[in-house]
Amino acid sequence: MQYINEALIWETLEQAQKTAPETIEAILQKTQTLQRLSLAETAALLAADDPEILRKIFAAAARVKNEIYGKRVVLFAPLYISNICQNACRYCAFKADNRLIERKALNPAEIKEQVEFMLQRGHKRILLVAGEAKPAFAGSLVDYYTEAIEAIYAAQVGPHKIKRVNINCAPLSMADFRKLKKAGIGTFQIFQETYHEGTYRYVHVRGPKTDPDKRIAAIDNAFAAGIDDVGMGVLYGLSDYRFDTLALLQHIEQLEKNWKIGPHTISVPRVEPAIGAEYSLTLPRRVSDADFRKIVAVLRLSVPYTGMILSTRETPQMRDELIDLGISQISAESSVAPGGYASTTLGNHQKINSQFEVADHRSLDEIIASLVDKGYIPSFCAACYRMERTGEKFMCLAKPGTIKGKCSMNALITLREYLDDFAADSTKQEGYKFIEQLKSALSDQDRQAYENFCLEIAGGARDRYV
Ligand code: SAM
Ligand code: SF4
Repeated sequence: MQYINEALIWETLEQAQKTAPETIEAILQKTQTLQRLSLAETAALLAADDPEILRKIFAAAARVKNEIYGKRVVLFAPLYISNICQNACRYCAFKADNRLIERKALNPAEIKEQVEFMLQRGHKRILLVAGEAKPAFAGSLVDYYTEAIEAIYAAQVGPHKIKRVNINCAPLSMADFRKLKKAGIGTFQIFQETYHEGTYRYVHVRGPKTDPDKRIAAIDNAFAAGIDDVGMGVLYGLSDYRFDTLALLQHIEQLEKNWKIGPHTISVPRVEPAIGAEYSLTLPRRVSDADFRKIVAVLRLSVPYTGMILSTRETPQMRDELIDLGISQISAESSVAPGGYASTTLGNHQKINSQFEVADHRSLDEIIASLVDKGYIPSFCAACYRMERTGEKFMCLAKPGTIKGKCSMNALITLREYLDDFAADSTKQEGYKFIEQLKSALSDQDRQAYENFCLEIAGGARDRYV
């Protein structure tokens, strides 16, 4: 597979088994300088299984997260627009040969209806997700995506609009990526699934996704087309997690070399049970909860400037723990079926159309209340994207940790707007109390700035940011 040196990864993993405790201490010291870790250093941390060393790794990850991102946690929801797909990925319910699910591609009017429902709940950030197939009513696959993006941005409920649309979709040509950029896409997200070539070829049975090099080249094509904001990930459970984590780093190193920027986000999906996809139930390499905690903490330390995303694939308990270990963005109240928001009661999603089973069924309001309770600031901020702080500009702010001030202020403002407009009474009460506590820790200048924003919000202004 292009960019991936399998022999080097296996050798590095083997060497890492012999890491001395002093070496681990030195690596953990280095992480406090917020520098990227090398493959060997990352492998050494992944090899750790002594509870005392793991405790130190977790503590270091929590420090790094706090240093770069502060206490804020960004919230978003996926919007599945289509479950029709020409590929056959053994682990996914949308695979072409699965007869157990009902197929549906939402048209722009149906997409608008879903988004209006989401806006009424308080959502502001959407991740558009789709299978790889052009619906009969669309001119081309990319036209389908761009028309969906237009429909999402056009939806409005009172003063509320979606601030940012990211997309998780199949690789596109450079010309098609340019169309996505023109349509106002935020992050282009694509998971390599596994970097282990033999496993990749085994699990991707037919369709364009069978070619691993085409998939790995997608990010270069997106960068070349001017999309400077990408999200990466491994689907954990397909292959050896240590191998895949090091391979992800090799891929990132290559991107940094080619384009001087790495991913804006790394996602850490684990394979969940998927109806009609037997492989999702009989995974040979399922990742345990203990190993999963380690993966998140080590990635946090290894690529400190990158946001880390966790979805509702994980249980509420696991999500709470992993936010402490370095997760900076979570999805909330997700439906993973096209049409799953407006046509069903929340918490009782259309299972029969779903890509996999979600494990966190809490409402957006419950998640916000829980974050507040744990001292995290829920955020709907999309300011970096709007102020064009993306690509190299974002990396320059994120790498030394200076993005934190802006993130924290924007989180406070967006939390205030959410509480005023959408929160249940108990969430409002706790949320306002929490904001008062946070205000007392602000500098005089920041407190004044925040008060000024509050006056604007009280006057009816929405969607304020710095
Ligand atoms: N079809 C496009 C693709 O495969 O790149 C984009 C959308 S696909 C629905 C989004 C991601 O869902 C995939 O990249 C894969 O990592 C993840 N996924 C598929 N089946 C899953 C399962 N059973 N459990 C958890 N995640 C899964
Ligand atoms: Fe299609 Fe993506 Fe599912 Fe594979 S993972 S079957 S490409 S939707």
